Amino acid sequence: MSEQKFEPSDGRDSNAAVVSSYDDHMMPIWKSLDIPVKRASGCTLEDVEGNEYLDVFAGIAVTNVGHGNEAVVDAAKAQLEEFVHGCSYVHPNEPVADLAERIAEVTPGDLEKTFFCNSGTESVEGAVKLARKYTGSKEVIALEMGFHGRTLGSLALTGNKSYKQGMAPTLNDVAHTAPPYGYRCPRCDGGECDADCADELERVIGSHTSGDLAAIVVEPVMGEAGIVVPPEGWLERVQEVAHDHGALLIVDEVQTGYGRTGELFASSHFDVEPDILTQAKGIANGLPLGAFTAPAEIADAFESGDHLSTFGGNPVACAAALATIDELQDGIVDDAREQGRWLADELGALEGEYEVVGQTRGLGLMWGVELVEPGTTGPQNVAPKPDPELASAVSDYLRDESNVVMGVGGYYKNVMRFQPPLSISREQLQYAVDELRAALETVA
Ligand code: PMP
Repeated sequence: MSEQKFEPSDGRDSNAAVVSSYDDHMMPIWKSLDIPVKRASGCTLEDVEGNEYLDVFAGIAVTNVGHGNEAVVDAAKAQLEEFVHGCSYVHPNEPVADLAERIAEVTPGDLEKTFFCNSGTESVEGAVKLARKYTGSKEVIALEMGFHGRTLGSLALTGNKSYKQGMAPTLNDVAHTAPPYGYRCPRCDGGECDADCADELERVIGSHTSGDLAAIVVEPVMGEAGIVVPPEGWLERVQEVAHDHGALLIVDEVQTGYGRTGELFASSHFDVEPDILTQAKGIANGLPLGAFTAPAEIADAFESGDHLSTFGGNPVACAAALATIDELQDGIVDDAREQGRWLADELGALEGEYEVVGQTRGLGLMWGVELVEPGTTGPQNVAPKPDPELASAVSDYLRDESNVVMGVGGYYKNVMRFQPPLSISREQLQYAVDELRAALETVA
């Protein structure tokens, strides 16, 4: 056992006050962890009472180089004093120009030109607009259970009905195909996946589209679905099908980009060259910034004025992004890859130890622990019933007894999410794993 450094505390009265003003004056939202953060550093969060928590969620996989990273803070402060806003589409400025050049250098393949916006959902919608303009086609295919955002365009691609109730109509002309979720796939016979789901794409194109395809949009590792890692050959096959049908492959790296999976971009784990790559979350370590990048030939389908964002490419966010990329390339991504190998063994061991741990899966520092009701295996060996109540109880235990912030996610809300700042130490990771064990012992 590692030495415990995060003590549970008795009083959380001020926390309760902050939470209750949320209830009074903010529209209802999902605030599952209920920890009002006062300040943060590295992998530690401090609440308004002064309690410290180990953060293994990083604000939903955002603060990849650590909360309050000094180089990022310094770069943002310096830019804040120079020039905050003039609209980067009105006044060209150095931070945005330098970042566009840097992204062309560090992204895979010949991705060369970037459009900057403010969030993940905007980057996906912009990418779809570009694909439509370039191909002259309209229809888009995305994955069931996939997540691409909640504004009406991206919501259409998001393959989760529960986010759409009462919100229709969304963007038309979107069809969904099977995700590469081996653990819950009837075709895969209990997890032995041979990537048949990529072939299913052809059936969906034939039966649910006119064939007039602009793009196929996929996450290389599905984050919100429950950290779903595709089998070998899957993404390559999807790319082949997209190109056979004259469609672009949009790889949504909003969650996987900027080191999360142990490569700067998850696309590099596979033999693919995205036609458009979307980014946000980790790009500026917490400052709001989104982007999508394409080869010049595709990017130049946008004519001047086709797309614009007042705050997109904000100079302070771009300065922070440049410093974030420097930090990532200064060993943090390599460390994340190593830490991920260690975590794979540690979490993998839980599968044998606890019947409620159905499957553990991930890449780099993006890991999920899927919790299930034992003995409830479905037809054709489809995995046991998801246990979202258990996941929520484990998360509460970790918050209240261990002072660990661990997200819960997954299509069925039954997956514990390890997505810490990539700068996390081995000792901190060990603490999180030990406390997860303690939570499973106590509440399972
Ligand atoms: N795409 C992916 C893959 C995501 O994980 C998310 C956010 N979880 C989004 C898009 C939307 O990003 P945002 O919340 O910044 O709009």
